[in-house]
Amino acid sequence: MLNVHLIAHTHDDVGWLKTVDQYYYGSETRIQKAGVQYIIDSVVEALLKDPEKRFIYVESAFFFKWWKEQKPKVQEAVKMLVDQGRLEFISGAWSMNDEATTHYQSVIDQFAWGLKLLNDTFGECGRPRVGWQIDPFGHSREMASMFAQMGFDGMFFGRLDYQDKDERLMTKNAEMIWHGSANLGETADLFSGALYNNYQAPDGFCFDILCSDTPIIDGKHSPDNNVKERVDAFFEFVNKMATGYRTPNLLITMGEDFHYQNADMWYKNLDKLIMYANERQANGSNINLLYSTPSCYLKSLHDAGIVWPTKSDDFFPYASDPHAYWTGYFTSRPTLKRYERDGNHFLQVCKQLSALAPTTSAEFDAHLSFMRETMGIMQHHDAITGTEKQKVALDYAKRLSVGFDACSTNIKSVLNQLSDGPVEAKATRPRAAFEFEFKTCSLLNISSCEISEKTDKFTLTLYNPLAHSTSEYVRVPVSDYNYVVTDNNGATVITQVVPVPTEVIDIFHRESSAKYELVFLASNLPPVGYRSYFIEKSENRNNFAKPQAQPKKRSSLTVIGNEHIELTFDTNGFLTEVTADGLNRLISQEFLYYEGAVGNNAEFLNRSSGAYIFRPNEDKIVPVATQVTIEVYKGDLVEEVHQKFNDWISQVVRVYHKSNYAEFEWLVGPIPIDDEIGKEVITRFKSDIESNGIFYTDSNGREMLKRKLNHRDTWDVKIAEAVAGNYYPITTKIALEDETARMAILVDRAQGGSSLQDGALELMVHRRLLKDDAFGVGEALNETEYGDGLVARGKHHLFVGLSKQREGVSLKALERLVQLETLLPSWKLFSNAEPLSVDEWRNSFTNIYNGISVVLPKTLHLLTLEPWHDNQLLVRFEHIMEKGEDAYYAKAVQLNIKDVLSAFEIEDVRETTLDGNAWLDETQRMQFVAESTAESYDSYATFSKSGKSVHLLSADKPLLEVKYSEEGIPAGSLGAESNRIKRDLDDNQVNGIDIEQLSEKEISKYVIEINPMEIRTFIVFLATN
Ligand SMILES: [Zn+2]
Repeated sequence: MLNVHLIAHTHDDVGWLKTVDQYYYGSETRIQKAGVQYIIDSVVEALLKDPEKRFIYVESAFFFKWWKEQKPKVQEAVKMLVDQGRLEFISGAWSMNDEATTHYQSVIDQFAWGLKLLNDTFGECGRPRVGWQIDPFGHSREMASMFAQMGFDGMFFGRLDYQDKDERLMTKNAEMIWHGSANLGETADLFSGALYNNYQAPDGFCFDILCSDTPIIDGKHSPDNNVKERVDAFFEFVNKMATGYRTPNLLITMGEDFHYQNADMWYKNLDKLIMYANERQANGSNINLLYSTPSCYLKSLHDAGIVWPTKSDDFFPYASDPHAYWTGYFTSRPTLKRYERDGNHFLQVCKQLSALAPTTSAEFDAHLSFMRETMGIMQHHDAITGTEKQKVALDYAKRLSVGFDACSTNIKSVLNQLSDGPVEAKATRPRAAFEFEFKTCSLLNISSCEISEKTDKFTLTLYNPLAHSTSEYVRVPVSDYNYVVTDNNGATVITQVVPVPTEVIDIFHRESSAKYELVFLASNLPPVGYRSYFIEKSENRNNFAKPQAQPKKRSSLTVIGNEHIELTFDTNGFLTEVTADGLNRLISQEFLYYEGAVGNNAEFLNRSSGAYIFRPNEDKIVPVATQVTIEVYKGDLVEEVHQKFNDWISQVVRVYHKSNYAEFEWLVGPIPIDDEIGKEVITRFKSDIESNGIFYTDSNGREMLKRKLNHRDTWDVKIAEAVAGNYYPITTKIALEDETARMAILVDRAQGGSSLQDGALELMVHRRLLKDDAFGVGEALNETEYGDGLVARGKHHLFVGLSKQREGVSLKALERLVQLETLLPSWKLFSNAEPLSVDEWRNSFTNIYNGISVVLPKTLHLLTLEPWHDNQLLVRFEHIMEKGEDAYYAKAVQLNIKDVLSAFEIEDVRETTLDGNAWLDETQRMQFVAESTAESYDSYATFSKSGKSVHLLSADKPLLEVKYSEEGIPAGSLGAESNRIKRDLDDNQVNGIDIEQLSEKEISKYVIEINPMEIRTFIVFLATN
């Protein structure tokens, strides 16, 4: 018997052509007839009428909006439907996230939050077991890994390259075991299935109010009776489909975007289809139709007891036809993509400080949740991707800005409490009541900040969200060049003033008086803590030198750099050489653009480049300049070359005194369109490294994947678009190397990138197009602001050095560390300090604070620290290295949770799945058997647990030095005793108690080991007071 699992489903985009709320409430019907509230109303009613029916729901952002509006009676009824499996939650994240442009931290967060609400509301029965990524435009390996680590049994998806899909259906490889990680082994394996018909119903069987297919007409004497013809047609579809799959089970999606607003229409016709189809069994038919869900289907596959093919690469890039490579969205809306990254950064700061808050007000949770939910929405496959309408993009940005405001109030409150010290101490202190603003300047990227520009005395508080102490070069926009920076010890900090580039000052919408940036090195920022600086404009201007550009040289080369890395620019102003690790390599950098193809979209050949699709015109590439104007600034802290390529592209290339890499801060836009040609702008680094068509790109910011030009690992690809077909999503890093040298670039937001020639890396930074690409958004990607084209600014970090043998830490390990420190640098909070003198500031406030007591090795990342349920914290530790990336650092590390989180009074701790909502020791996943036992991927070294050697591995190699913060916070301040950083780690002690005296059990509970690329998630139970 061939079981046909009919999946009644709706695909509800959390914003696309309409905003989230317009979709929920069903407004703007002229744009799209879609109202999610009606869908859930209607489906629940239909399910309650008939216990045979099934429905799945996916997007928690919508579901919980609806749930909160329901009366208790309806809520009870829905709980019953969930308990009985008639309504099943699938995936369960806040939105169905994109997989190319999202960062894993945000994906994990949005799953954790959606699954938490489901868990809190419905318990075990509400917990999804199956991933449902039916619409995202290609699929990442890391996503598979994350699903597996969340305890999911499998995942189904809709979109894969058309050639890949054909091949897989032909060879019955559409369902497979996906090895999600090259580091984690089986725990990252995920059963994954490609759906047959994306997520639509078979042609002619769309029975929704939004469709126009003929219903099943079964009036016995009706002249329109079509039962035989319809069932025949359906069977034809089923039989054809069956040739592509391995078991006598088929999954057929019955639904589409915003379907089931009138659920009865669908169900009535499905009832008839099932009845008339199954009637034929009496006459020997072996086809059995049933209402089902993806998890029932998956169980049938599991129970079939057969073996499955495996896969170790990913599903990028996605092509839907020979000229439609969905690689444009890797870059589309570059400023929204960056704003989202800022949002993640701020959310982590907000979570940590909310967890560390001595006292919280009633709104704390609501503020934090709003930001969590906004970030969940941002991950949606039409949000961060840039494939939504302009109005919807603006709505996303606005939501995010409200999220920033909400979390800012939490942060301001907590930091004022922490810097104020305890009440007793306050009473005896001689100072006026003072509240710091702790304001975020959201326009620091264009050197604009009201407080630092307009006040003569202000404080800058640097909150470090990482679990190791960091040192960081800070840039503060100022209107003059005479400032004194004093640290919390009263020491004057060395500063350098650099002019803001003319091109930034001239940005047409920039309203700022800042002409300079005050640069200083903020050193030893305490882990999960802050250090504050007092910045005062000096009255004695004569003591300060106005920054001067180096005299212009027409005939000689320009060199900037330090002992680690040196960059040479030729007389035309272009980068030509990089020296690092004793290597001297020819490396050039320039900006170029592709002209976007324009067509009528009527057939493949006439496809336009658009929000989704990257399709350059004849692969022609245009350099933007043959001559670059440069200005050079050198000082004690940083050396900079300010480059002007043309009227709309400029760049600052800088090397800080102690850095091992170079920073390229680009400014692109408004992209001109007077010639009526859309342009896709890239930066290209060309080197003499012999990469032989091989390059490496990251997967959602975690593991690196090997790419080869014009090649796919699992089939013999034919690429009709030589450029677009070789583009891959770069979430954090792209790299290439040969036997001796290596070049890597870190990005500050998702971008498309490739290596089209040996030794060259390119990244698309901005795009402005004049035609829609006909995939539904219905608008050209022509972003404007204040009446002109959008200006984007961002950073690339360039690493060059020895690819293998290297003294001290490997280049790859260094890249990992900088990747983390640039993802989550210190958050900068400004406060007007006009009423205070520097001494008053020093004596009256706690200007340094450590939130955790042990400095973790730099390879360990405190990925999550947030308030969870009452008296609970959600905590994640992550090892940021891959196996083999460094001989010393890519090793297992042990830590004691109690030790690290000693600011908290911990009663118990229990490990969970990655999402934080199921106990790890109670989680069992369905096991699927791979085709061959000779697995193609490496078997992994296991690190033997050394029982009692319970300590943090100290990291004392050069460049990755772990420095213990110089001091703890003063005694008497909040948590000062317990927060003081331990200077002397004793191998034989845990929390000051001799290991010998602790029971094995007690040790093993809090002492954990983390292997390369591993993330371990815990609920920490706090003492109630
Ligand atoms: Zn969608």
